[in-house]
Amino acid sequence: MDMICDRCGKTGIHWIGPLSNLTHTECPHCGGQNCQREDQPENDEPEVATCGCGAAGEVNYDDGNEQRYYCYSSLSMCSP
Ligand SMILES: [Zn+2]
Ligand SMILES: [Zn+2]
Repeated sequence: MDMICDRCGKTGIHWIGPLSNLTHTECPHCGGQNCQREDQPENDEPEVATCGCGAAGEVNYDDGNEQRYYCYSSLSMCSP
């Protein structure tokens, strides 16, 4: 995947340095260093489930066939 320069918007950024010790990236168009855009993974939606008390949150428990969310409050239904 090509890295895109955040300063000039062009691709072609490459790593500088020996292969075993790459030090930084450089854009050949504007000369910027370490200026590639951060990748933004888009299909990284967190799985959401509902705790026994009704609170919703990101799944934090998975016993292999069931994914659940526990809010870990003091109620007995709120932790595994
Ligand atoms: Zn550039
Ligand atoms: Zn709860």
